[in-house]
Amino acid sequence: MSAKLKPLQTSTEYEALHLVDRRMEIVYGPHTSRRLGLTLGVNLLGAGQKVCSFDCAYCDLGPTEVRLNRLKNDFPFPSFDEIRMALEKGFPLAHQSVAKINAISIAGNGEPTLHPAFSEVMDLILKRRDLDLPGTPVIVLTNGAHLDSRKTVEALNKADERMLKFDAGNERMFKTINAPLVRASVSKILAGVNSLKDVTVQSFFVQGAVDNTSPSDIEDWMEVIGLIKPKAVHLHGMNRVPALSGLQRCEEDTLYTIASRLERRTQIRSLVFP
Ligand code: SF4
Repeated sequence: MSAKLKPLQTSTEYEALHLVDRRMEIVYGPHTSRRLGLTLGVNLLGAGQKVCSFDCAYCDLGPTEVRLNRLKNDFPFPSFDEIRMALEKGFPLAHQSVAKINAISIAGNGEPTLHPAFSEVMDLILKRRDLDLPGTPVIVLTNGAHLDSRKTVEALNKADERMLKFDAGNERMFKTINAPLVRASVSKILAGVNSLKDVTVQSFFVQGAVDNTSPSDIEDWMEVIGLIKPKAVHLHGMNRVPALSGLQRCEEDTLYTIASRLERRTQIRSLVFP
């Protein structure tokens, strides 16, 4: 997050004030998702801390405090065996206790592709899915910051669906709203998207201290969406407390206006989640 846009709370204060629960187990839920239905979550990033390569202004997990160099050195990611054991226990349990799980989502406390064994873990999840929840789609949510790694792209392509965050069509707004902690850029992510099998884009729109709804920002965003050619676009307003104070919720009407402009310009229809 840029120097001008510091969150007012630390991650811990944010958690206490806004009742954020980052104690997510490796397998959590099932919970009801507006987009995916009854969803079983997989969190590869460990309980208690947010682990991400972005520091998005609207993030409902609070500010990103774990720095990337720590992730490369001594960060206690759940081990492959811990994940294997959690899946072996959690997937059959979910299958027994709920009539039908609609999706398995890999997201959790941040950016899942940061797990050092992400590719191997994807194989494991797909194998357990076939055994315990056959036919349930595995969906990975990613910020796209690591698409310059061939291994990450290959691992993402193993999933049934990929949901990619894309909130800005120009570098200025990208840095403001997503505040990358790595050398990510709109153009770099765009280059990486070409290697993905297909992608659903999810875009957040906010106003107030950060506003990505100005006519020129929407123009740039639409241009990028046209280049990505996603199989679907989901437009989100903010419905939880953001990391950054002073952000305002984007009105439902504004989201629908963006959706109709996008359709006129690119013939791509989008779903709105105000
Ligand atoms: S990419 Fe997701 S988890 Fe990371 S800061 Fe942005 S909203 Fe939060």
